[in-house]
Amino acid sequence: MIVVMRTGCSQDEISRVTKRIEDIGLKPHISQGIEHTVIGVLGQVFPELRDTLELLPGVEQVIPVTKPYKLASREFHPQDTIVEINGVTIGDNEIVVMAGPCAIESEEQLMATAHAVKAAGATVLRGGAFKPRTSPYQFRGLGESGLKILAQAGKETQMPIITEVMSPNDVALVAQYADILQIGARNMQNFVLLDEVGRTKKPVLLKRGLSSNIQEWLLAAEYILAQGNAQVILCERGIRTFETYTRNTMDISAIPIIEKVSHLPIIADPSHATGKWYLVSPLALAAVAAGADGLLIEVHPNPDMALADGPQSLTFDNFRLLMSQLVPVAEAKNRKLATSSARIKP
Ligand code: PEP
Ligand code: MN
Repeated sequence: MIVVMRTGCSQDEISRVTKRIEDIGLKPHISQGIEHTVIGVLGQVFPELRDTLELLPGVEQVIPVTKPYKLASREFHPQDTIVEINGVTIGDNEIVVMAGPCAIESEEQLMATAHAVKAAGATVLRGGAFKPRTSPYQFRGLGESGLKILAQAGKETQMPIITEVMSPNDVALVAQYADILQIGARNMQNFVLLDEVGRTKKPVLLKRGLSSNIQEWLLAAEYILAQGNAQVILCERGIRTFETYTRNTMDISAIPIIEKVSHLPIIADPSHATGKWYLVSPLALAAVAAGADGLLIEVHPNPDMALADGPQSLTFDNFRLLMSQLVPVAEAKNRKLATSSARIKP
């Protein structure tokens, strides 16, 4: 349920509404729009509440929210959320490209990649130190020493860094190094982990679960938002279907749907969605054409030798080519590609 206040209502009137909501054991959530103040009611609402609140002075109307997710919904929060990380903004007019290897393998590998993706226009550096792998015998990441290499590369190239955190026990450690905490597809419904990253003040990139529908994904985001962390970025990374040509099936339609039903920024990861390097660029272009606020792209100096996800990793040359192809697509959407020089704060 949301309470839309009249334009120009007084602070007193707003306080009376929030107090009434609290008095009945529910939680008010104020959102300041350009014209209206909107007060969301969180908790188990009952139909009679609508009449009670509608009678209060300053209230224009009370609208029931039918969706189970509240804080993540556009109804609760009509204006776009813009996540800001050290001068990089996600969810505004500029399209942000996050790039780097699947896994941090060595200082040389990461430094070379960081410099190459930055030169091509990426503004966020990615790299996994705690890797969720299908088989326990595959390379599972360098752990904290990988985080140190990532932090060093981010510092040297002046790019914010994003990396995955897999366990609630590691959140404090990963948050010491990372600028953005990534929740992987396999952990989208690890509710204890969602609570834990929700308690940090760090932006969180929430990937869509392998078999999750959009509503389940937004409810996972709701866990993070409900802990008081408003900086959530969604990432479409493909879902399981019967198709075997691709690793997953990228749900392009999820992008405009999220834009319609949620205020949270949405980016796309065509690397994990396709599993094949030659499909990454076409899908990246399609995602931007569909309205994505950014991309997450795996890049490796030598994909054939990569310890993780080589077949879907772009070479430096292919990444540069993709970045140039993105420019006209972004322009066609009246947007532009974020460039590193414009983004980094002095
Ligand atoms: C990754 O980004 O390296 C990753 C493991 O992605 P996902 O969780 O989407 O599979
Ligand atoms: Mn990967």
